[in-house]
Amino acid sequence: MRLSIVLFIAAAAISLGVLGARPKANADPAFAQINSIVATLSEITGLAEKHTVAYGRMDKMQLRRFLTKRIKKTLKPEEIQADELALKMFGLVPQDFDLRESTIDLLTEQAAAFYDYGSKKLFLLDDSGLESETTTLAHELAHALADQHFNLGKFMDETPANDDENLAHTAVVEGQASWLMLAYDLKHSGRAPVPTMEMVQSVVDSSETSMADYPVLKNSPLYIQQSLLFPYTQGTLFFDSVYRKMGKPAFAAVFTDAPVDSAQIIHPDRYFRRQKETRPELPKPTLTKQGKEITEGSVGEFDHEMLLRQYAGGEEAEWLAQHLKGGQFAIVTAGAKRRPVLEYVSEWDSEATAAQFFSEYKKVLQAKWKHCEPSMANGATFAGSGDNGYFVTRMAGAVVTSIEGVSELEDWQRLVGTQRTQAAVRVPFATRSAARF
Ligand SMILES: [Zn+2]
Repeated sequence: MRLSIVLFIAAAAISLGVLGARPKANADPAFAQINSIVATLSEITGLAEKHTVAYGRMDKMQLRRFLTKRIKKTLKPEEIQADELALKMFGLVPQDFDLRESTIDLLTEQAAAFYDYGSKKLFLLDDSGLESETTTLAHELAHALADQHFNLGKFMDETPANDDENLAHTAVVEGQASWLMLAYDLKHSGRAPVPTMEMVQSVVDSSETSMADYPVLKNSPLYIQQSLLFPYTQGTLFFDSVYRKMGKPAFAAVFTDAPVDSAQIIHPDRYFRRQKETRPELPKPTLTKQGKEITEGSVGEFDHEMLLRQYAGGEEAEWLAQHLKGGQFAIVTAGAKRRPVLEYVSEWDSEATAAQFFSEYKKVLQAKWKHCEPSMANGATFAGSGDNGYFVTRMAGAVVTSIEGVSELEDWQRLVGTQRTQAAVRVPFATRSAARF
């Protein structure tokens, strides 16, 4: 999914308070340590400092204004609306959810510091509480060092061909910085700068357990909450795996030979063997008065895991989502009232896992809408009417398709009557030329 929140976080490369939380207060002016922290990070990574890093302080009010301005400058209102619509049509956020406001609230709550790669400047938040500013600075200076060598703006905003790749790149950036934060603390206290598995796992655990301290994060829809946490939790585990395999060259490799989808972050072995998600073909139905495409994008393993976790439960979600080969969606307008129609396809690694997803997806449809009246339900088709119009969900081989929000009855009748199955045509990411970004 093309999710603004990910872009926003990428735009500011914000460090989560939850990860920097240490009861170790530091009375010294934090910024006086910058040079020594950068020198230590350079030693650990082998990346030399190219320029000194500018810095400043901000309070939460200033951060809110900064984020508001940044969003206004980098995203058109219709782009945010399109993202919000996609999240709503998938049932990942409530119908009254305000993506822009929620994102600003969430980042304002979560930021302890951030590195703005637009201005190449690092900011500490004034009221970041008891956090050790040294540890927070190590995380942000790791971003600054990475930016000087690998151009983070390009890496996160320009290079990704789709949303799932964008999430993967964000996980590279945050994962490496979070891992280096642990490594810095070790080296600073005279130990070898290689975090243990337990230390790495503590990053994951602490972000879940400290959720209670953050009301905005805690009350956010699961998808939004986990989109924010994923780059830090799974990203740190991913970097740790790459470091254990490659050693020091890992610091550059994750940028120069970057993972391309969330599945490669979740399963580093897929990154090592360059196994990419597929791009199955969308159902592309012919609809009355079909208008323009509002948005389109990828639906990766992360997206599927969240969708299943929300409606089918955690264990089932994690087990099934890893069998996804790839997914795509588009939203077009159609019908007399030009209503949005969701086209969605997912490809699975076997007919058995596709059948399992087909079965789970029926539950998703019934749970995400107040009203879901199936008028056709057999082993391969589930069709009827829902909150926003008619729907047709189908399984053919290892592929599941769904068309939702059809407003014209005749369109739906034609779709239901069409038993022709869609073959999954795979187009590797590399050949994709009509990318939206
Ligand atoms: Zn960060």
